[in-house]
Amino acid sequence: MITTEFSYQKAGSVDEALRLLAAAPDSALLAGGHSLIPSMKLRVTAASALVDISGVAALKGVSRAGDTFRIGASTTHRDVAESADLRSGSPLLAEVAGVIGDPAVRNRGTIGGSLAHADPAADYPAAIIALGAQIEVAGTSGSRTIAADDFFTGTFETAVAAGEMITAVTVPAATGVAYEKFVHPASGYAVVGVAAVVTVAGGTISSLRVGVTGAGPQALRLTGLESALAGKTADDATLRSACSGLVAAGDLVGDHQASAAYRASLVDTLARRAIARAAARG
Ligand SMILES: Cc1cc2nc3c(=O)[nH]c(=O)nc-3n(C[C@H](O)[C@H](O)[C@H](O)COP(=O)(O)OP(=O)(O)OC[C@H]3O[C@@H](n4cnc5c(N)ncnc54)[C@H](O)[C@@H]3O)c2cc1C
Repeated sequence: MITTEFSYQKAGSVDEALRLLAAAPDSALLAGGHSLIPSMKLRVTAASALVDISGVAALKGVSRAGDTFRIGASTTHRDVAESADLRSGSPLLAEVAGVIGDPAVRNRGTIGGSLAHADPAADYPAAIIALGAQIEVAGTSGSRTIAADDFFTGTFETAVAAGEMITAVTVPAATGVAYEKFVHPASGYAVVGVAAVVTVAGGTISSLRVGVTGAGPQALRLTGLESALAGKTADDATLRSACSGLVAAGDLVGDHQASAAYRASLVDTLARRAIARAAARG
């Protein structure tokens, strides 16, 4: 398939990217191109102007300030996966990035592009919800921060407004983490993926956040499960009992890959496994 006609400009800075975005109402940012270009070829997306941000140095890399990690929006999945800072202090995003697609996708695709695309089966959304990440966005009138809980607003929809761009994602230090992904063998995407971030104190769960991707029309957080397990031990019997009937099949997606009932069953199983593994590390 061939895309509709578009112009191409390469931005050298965030300000220049925002200016170019504002100049053409139906323009789109081009990061790794691994979601945008296929959707333009399928003519699901039509943009008359592409603003390439792959050369903006300020948008790349991982940095640490105390117990907070900042990942630039254009950091590739590979660089997230290989970040020594993340691996030692907050490994969830690195572990999630390592199971995205294949090496070609990880070499080009970026965390900002994935979050902005908001594919309901993408891997990062479960992790950023579980981590309680903050997403930094910039527009011509200034910058703001969106909490992960408020970021995904629908299927392929986010709280990023027209004319804004994601500049970075910040996550806290957290080592009691795990991501369980039931991979679709053909696409590599998650049929269902569950991320858990757990703190264990004195043998019981003192904090827990659980994010789910792939199951519903958008990534979701299992707040009921988080409350149910507060103060409990993360033993197998407790987790089996708590991780049962977590989501109603009627709220989930059913398609040729998996029925809604099967996805609901996967959420139970993967949540139990993710929490058990995270608690053992936390
Ligand atoms: C074969 C294949 C397998 C894949 N498997 C997986 C998988 O297993 N798991 C998974 O999670 N993903 C998977 N993906 C998707 C992949 O992770 C994409 O790289 C990612 O979804 C988009 O990132 P990108 O940098 O390529 O963004 P692009 O394709 O360049 O952009 C995507 C969208 O985000 C917008 N955008 C880009 N950057 C920004 C920004 N900084 N601020 C605001 N908007 C922005 C663009 O305008 C566009 O609308 C796969 C893709 C392919 C082609």
